[in-house]
Amino acid sequence: MPEHRAGLSAASRRLVLAGIALLIGMIATVSIAMVDTRNHALEAARTETERLAKAIAEQTAVAFRATDIVIAAFRDEIESKTYATPEAQAAGIVTKEFQKELDRQATLLPQADAFTVVDASGHLSNYSRRWPPPHLNLSDRDYFRYFRDHDDRGIFLSKPVTNRGNGLWTAFLARRIDGPSGQFFGIMLGAMDLSYFRNFYREVAQHENLAITLVDRQGRVLASYPYDLPPGQRPKNLTAAWDRALAKPHPSVMTGPGLLDGSARIISVHPLADYPVVVNVSVSASGALAGWRQQAALTALAAVFAMLCMILLFRAIILQLRRLERSEADLARNSNTLSTTLDHISQGIVMIDGQGRVAVCNRQALAMLDLPPGLMASNPSAETVFAYQVAAGEFPDAEEEHRYRGSLYADKPVTYERQRPNGRILEVQCVPLPDGGVVRTYSDVTERRQSEERIRYLAHHDPLTQLANRTLFTARLEEEIARANQGAHRLALLYIDLDRFKYVNDSHGHGAGDALLVKLAERLTLTVGFGPTIARTGGDEFAIILPLDGPQHDASHLARDIVTAVRQPLEIDGNAFRASISIGIAHYPDHAKSASDLLRNADIALYEAKNEGTGLVRAFDAGMEARQQALFRREQDLRSAFELKQFEVVYQPILSTVSGCVAGAEALLRWHHPIHGLVPPADFITLAEKLGLIEPLGFWVLETACKEAAQWSLEIGVAVNLSPVQVNSETLARQVQQILERTGLPPHRLTLEVTEGLLLEPNPTVLSTMHALRALGIRFSLDDFGTGHSGLGYLRRFPFDAIKIDKLFIQDMVEHADAAAIVNALLAVSVELGLEVVAEGVETAAQLEMLRSRQCQYVQGFFLSPPLPAAEMRLFVLEPRPFPSCPDPVLAAEPPAIRL
Ligand code: C2E
Ligand code: CA
Ligand code: CA
Repeated sequence: MPEHRAGLSAASRRLVLAGIALLIGMIATVSIAMVDTRNHALEAARTETERLAKAIAEQTAVAFRATDIVIAAFRDEIESKTYATPEAQAAGIVTKEFQKELDRQATLLPQADAFTVVDASGHLSNYSRRWPPPHLNLSDRDYFRYFRDHDDRGIFLSKPVTNRGNGLWTAFLARRIDGPSGQFFGIMLGAMDLSYFRNFYREVAQHENLAITLVDRQGRVLASYPYDLPPGQRPKNLTAAWDRALAKPHPSVMTGPGLLDGSARIISVHPLADYPVVVNVSVSASGALAGWRQQAALTALAAVFAMLCMILLFRAIILQLRRLERSEADLARNSNTLSTTLDHISQGIVMIDGQGRVAVCNRQALAMLDLPPGLMASNPSAETVFAYQVAAGEFPDAEEEHRYRGSLYADKPVTYERQRPNGRILEVQCVPLPDGGVVRTYSDVTERRQSEERIRYLAHHDPLTQLANRTLFTARLEEEIARANQGAHRLALLYIDLDRFKYVNDSHGHGAGDALLVKLAERLTLTVGFGPTIARTGGDEFAIILPLDGPQHDASHLARDIVTAVRQPLEIDGNAFRASISIGIAHYPDHAKSASDLLRNADIALYEAKNEGTGLVRAFDAGMEARQQALFRREQDLRSAFELKQFEVVYQPILSTVSGCVAGAEALLRWHHPIHGLVPPADFITLAEKLGLIEPLGFWVLETACKEAAQWSLEIGVAVNLSPVQVNSETLARQVQQILERTGLPPHRLTLEVTEGLLLEPNPTVLSTMHALRALGIRFSLDDFGTGHSGLGYLRRFPFDAIKIDKLFIQDMVEHADAAAIVNALLAVSVELGLEVVAEGVETAAQLEMLRSRQCQYVQGFFLSPPLPAAEMRLFVLEPRPFPSCPDPVLAAEPPAIRL
């Protein structure tokens, strides 16, 4: 990470600071040492210069003094001779002997060039170099004038001058000579050869690398080496400090600019005690420091080297430290990242190290296993944790404990699942580590297992009724068959179908249909119990696998119980319902040797039951299959009958008991089967309804009958039977109207016959259809009255014009008083309600007579006429005739009724 690279850690910073401090210390120490040695070097140079200056000054003083002694000696000698007059005195001096003495002295002293005696007027009295002395007046000279004017016994040094004789630079030492009475007598002169000094200084300076200069108190140069300063002049570089030093009576040392080039020099200024001259000895500062500089350079080099080494060392240490810190930081970061990661993964992780201690336990593991954080943070042994868990009741039994312990010491990966006391299901994965430890990973798979369970459940159950679905049912059937084979017991398979379920769905909506199925499933379960498999195998189909491993031998009893239970009224959306089911039963191994055969045979039995009606139970038998096949063929035939024009409509006349004449006719359908001959409608109407053929067939009958009736010579009515399926159709009214328009039959001549079954669970459209048709003038009659469940109430609720008393009552009425009573009652009610009455199935004259005597208006039956083919019916209408074998026939005198 950048922050780790960018900055130094506190430790590194401290180290750097320590390094810097050490460096500064080193530099300071070395500097101080160098300054110190420099000072020492300078000090040594000063001392040395002083020492040399002192020595040189002494030598210089010796040269001066030697000259001075000679001067003083000659002066003393001159003064000691007592001459009478100054002239005499002068004459005494002006001698060749004296000159010889002077010359001898001058020769003895190398520094002395000449000795001269000057008289009071400035003339040379004697001169060491030459005899006689040259005529020369020195009265203009500084020393002469000084002594002429000053009574001074001291010494005077002249300013340097070039010798007029040899051109050498000379300075004169002079003393005053007093006359006998103390008057100015003249002066004694010693000419100092200044080159003597220069030579002397050269000797010294050459060896010592010195600069030596001899100046007078005014700073005028007398001699110098190695400089070639012009004598008699003050050097330009003579500073004020130097001037002050010259004036001082004692020696001093100063540092200042050199006289020649102004470069820094150590200058020892040494005045001579007895003579007004000063010896300056100097060394160049750089020269003085040359040794020091060399040493300092070496020292500095060594120091720099040492510092470099130190810097490198520190750098290496810091780098190492940083590497260390970085790896520590990396380690910390890694460990931090690791623990953060561990805490944020969805699984619980526990790591047990090779010593059996819990090294890692993430947050999820704590939560998932309800482990106390304090215990887990204490790096406990796995055994301690295990003991805690056992005490906390974590493991329901010894087996679970054993499995846990086994997974702790497994030498290969183990995965298992266990359910915690709180119901959560954990998947535990144990992976052994090379060091003998183990990593345990916990995943909460409760939801996964629950949804798997749910998926499994949904895959095998019907979501509406919660019963087993076809998949589970098939599997169970195979299982039960295998079990039956093993246990040598039998098995019953019940196939259940809800009667008229389509009607419920169509007329009450799918919600009601679903509710009905749910209720049905409840009743099945209640009746059968939870042992046997109950399945919903299709829309309104159910199946029950009933192992007959108990005392029962067949399932018929149970099946009938179920039918009864289902038949009990039930309530759906506030409406009372009566459901009805049909059941087909097949037994294993009696009726089938395989599951598929058993299924097929139960299905055949169910089909048979449905074919025979509703609410029936049928057990498979061998003949059933043949019947089924016949039925199947019948279906096929029926489907093609329409196209093959095998249908015919016949007409059974209805006669009026009042007029004795034909009042109308009922249209009845006939099927001429090519093999089976004439098939009665009772044998195929239900089938046609089932096959969905009834609507086209019914409308064909209606159209045929209307067309036929419209042809009749009498405007009598025609009655057409309608199947409940037709009446439930919303298009009925429109279709009927169209047929009437097409055939030209006036609506009032058409009567539609419907049965009570239609009214049991009426579709709301039925009533509106009836009203619509009645509004056109069409009439309705209630067929087969008295046979069904209907009561008289229907007659009030539905707009009927007539009732047809079923032939059952008519046929019994002569012999059975109760049947007669019912007929009587029906006739009476009809009169009350203003309904017409048709008595069906009049087969005997007695029946006719009885009906007539009770004012039954209309009669229909074989006694009067069987159903007639269209052509015969036309003739029947054409020739109205009285009742055929009526003992007291009604004459056909009355006009024919047109109502029926
Ligand atoms: P249904 O409406 O009660 O018709 C009267 C039935 O009684 C007819 O039987 C008729 O032949 C029969 N019959 C008439 N007089 C006597 C008699 O004196 N004694 C006896 N025992 N029977 C008599 P069919 O034609 O076999 O019709 C049977 C049923 O089939 C009809 O009963 C009717 O419900 C139905 N059907 C006939 N034609 C049609 C049709 O076109 N459409 C519909 N939906 N149903 C029809
Ligand atoms: Ca009828
Ligand atoms: Ca009837």
